[in-house]
Amino acid sequence: MKLILLGAPGAGKGTQAEIISEQYGIPTISTGNIIRAALKNGTEMGLKAKSYIDAGELVPDEVVIGIIKERLSEPDCQNGYILDGFPRTIPQAEALDNMGFAIDAALSIEVPDDEIVKRMSGRRVCEKCGASYHTAYKKPEKDGVCNLCGGDLVIRKDDEPETVKNRLHVYHEQTEPLKAYYQNCGKLFTVQGQEEVADTTRLVLAELEKLI
Ligand code: AMP
Repeated sequence: MKLILLGAPGAGKGTQAEIISEQYGIPTISTGNIIRAALKNGTEMGLKAKSYIDAGELVPDEVVIGIIKERLSEPDCQNGYILDGFPRTIPQAEALDNMGFAIDAALSIEVPDDEIVKRMSGRRVCEKCGASYHTAYKKPEKDGVCNLCGGDLVIRKDDEPETVKNRLHVYHEQTEPLKAYYQNCGKLFTVQGQEEVADTTRLVLAELEKLI
């Protein structure tokens, strides 16, 4: 299965991607995670991307297109993949089409903006390993401490309220038009994000079953 997950930042794409990935045995490719890892490792690409990420802006198309092209060429993508956070603009979607990496479906997880703002204010990530948590929906066993590696849980700089508002603005302006793009080629599927992760997962898996 070759799947794109669409939705506003904080709509729960990452969590659903992890679940689908496990269920279908295909990798999740998150451009956000790849860029954050590059940033942590101090690579040239990471340094270039930092100011965009911190401001809640999109990293230039040519940078992310290069990242995705390289990643999709790796052997573990042969049997399918889930794209989480790519494409985010029409030129990125067109580049993906032109690269010859066809996709089967684009699944959009719909969550209203005010709910997103509420959710993102509770999001925490492990400083050390990047695992994600939520103060209401996915609590760590011990407050402020990562279950997996014992690292400190912090608020991602781009999850701060002002940056979240900008990320939502950027989403509506630049990424939401992708819904019409995939609708036009009959590949768009939509689910309403639910308060409980498991309820959203049920809806997502039901849509995916239709594809098989
Ligand atoms: P995410 O974790 O997917 O929300 O991504 C975090 C940040 O990385 C975004 O706010 C952008 O600055 C950058 N980013 C990730 N994916 C893309 C993309 N496909 N196009 C442009 N910028 C991206």
